[in-house]
Amino acid sequence: MPHYDLVIVGTGSGNSILDPRFADWKTAIVEKGVFGGTCLNVGCIPTKMFVHTADLAATPSISGRFGVDEELLNVRWRDVRDRIFGRIDPIAEGGREYRTSHADNANVTVYEGEGRFTGHKELTVSLPDRTETITADRFVLAAGGRPVVPDIEGLDQVPYHTSDSIMRLDELPRRLVIVGSGFVAAEFAHVFSSFGVEVTVIARSGALLRSEDEDISARYTELATQRYDVRLNRKVLRARRTETGLALDLAEGETVEADQLLIAVGRRPNSDLLDVAATGVATLDSGHVKVDAYQQTSVEGIYALGDLSSPYELKHVANHEARVVQHNLLHPDERIEADHRFVPHAVFGSPQIASVGVTEQQARQRGLKYTTSKQDYAAIAYGWAMEDTTGFAKLLADPETGQLLGAHIIGPQAPTVIQPLIQAMSFGLDAHTMARGQYWIHPAMPELVENALLNLNVPGASR
Ligand SMILES: Cc1cc2nc3c(=O)[nH]c(=O)nc-3n(C[C@H](O)[C@H](O)[C@H](O)COP(=O)(O)OP(=O)(O)OC[C@H]3O[C@@H](n4cnc5c(N)ncnc54)[C@H](O)[C@@H]3O)c2cc1C
Repeated sequence: MPHYDLVIVGTGSGNSILDPRFADWKTAIVEKGVFGGTCLNVGCIPTKMFVHTADLAATPSISGRFGVDEELLNVRWRDVRDRIFGRIDPIAEGGREYRTSHADNANVTVYEGEGRFTGHKELTVSLPDRTETITADRFVLAAGGRPVVPDIEGLDQVPYHTSDSIMRLDELPRRLVIVGSGFVAAEFAHVFSSFGVEVTVIARSGALLRSEDEDISARYTELATQRYDVRLNRKVLRARRTETGLALDLAEGETVEADQLLIAVGRRPNSDLLDVAATGVATLDSGHVKVDAYQQTSVEGIYALGDLSSPYELKHVANHEARVVQHNLLHPDERIEADHRFVPHAVFGSPQIASVGVTEQQARQRGLKYTTSKQDYAAIAYGWAMEDTTGFAKLLADPETGQLLGAHIIGPQAPTVIQPLIQAMSFGLDAHTMARGQYWIHPAMPELVENALLNLNVPGASR
């Protein structure tokens, strides 16, 4: 039975751990799917490439406001798709080739199959032609997660997609129904609707993007309802085939017909398929692998990172945790802790959303003392240029110290505009010092942030 110094399961963020400093280690990588993991192949990167293309396709729908009449003549879906995957697939394959054939990786054995723990620090890999059991002193579990498929009667009888497959369709559907109300639903609703597809969104709750700040969620829900057929507070009873496609029967007595169905109700960690319990690794109720501040699991020498163990399920978090794990493997006597204080996230729908820190509802629930401010894009010069009438920034700050507690933006380029606020929170810069301690380029979009800071009622706030 081959024994290794280190085995890594999963080539998403896990693949970045091995570098020349591990050249003397006998290592193995286990990957059951495509090299590069979710973000590269079916997540962040292709979705944002589709979103940018969708933004271009959506331009004619608003250009009239500027006195420019444009028309969307056609969307060559296969060309859109093939440009994106023509870029991504070779990167995934290049990553695979590098690990399997390049001299840099002479000490790395790649197992291309599904791993499952069968004992303490013992992993059995199902390879195409055989199974092989390997052991190691140390493991890094970076096996990510997968889309949840809800238990809906008849769902197995209709063709449905998840985010793993919807981007590879051969034809654009005329009608798409999306079950779900989170960020994946928001991004694909924007993409397909911009390409001329009739989109219906079915949400169990009374609002879309419910985990965002309440004002952001309310504004997004209002705008999405104008753009898509949004059905809130609905329960899907059954799915069935029809002559032209499929139908979903809802408990409220409605039926939604479509040509394609996207299930986007969330993701779950792969800890069950990897059977981490067999090596003694503990999990939380959510299925996430339990880790300490050093990213070590309940078993010494077994580390975990990314979607397998992180409730954030974000690529920048997985990357950060991979760097922490890498350091802790190389320097076991000087281990460092992961920093999860201010984790930002974004939703690249329409409009875009970005957020960091606490929402107002969390501040209330936690009994925090806070003050808030709002700034509309419509009231800054670049907002006039863009004719934006719906976007805003909302800040929460400690009224005594002026330290920022949360920042939430809905509107053009929100994920870029929010970055200085993430920086301020991470480095402890108070709102007044941030607003007045630097120049803000006029008339650029970050003036939204400057004005939102100046609107806060915090120490030094006399402008
Ligand atoms: C549609 C979509 C859009 C997204 N957009 C964003 C975004 O804009 N920004 C952002 O920050 N995040 C985004 N995410 C989330 C992001 O993709 C993930 O947080 C990130 O990819 C997690 O990385 P990871 O290394 O933990 O896992 P993954 O990248 O999922 O890697 C896990 C790897 O392990 C392999 N594996 C699993 N089980 C086994 C096993 N038993 N044996 C062998 N191999 C196994 C898998 O095949 C996979 O290659 C998005 C996700 C989705 C689905």
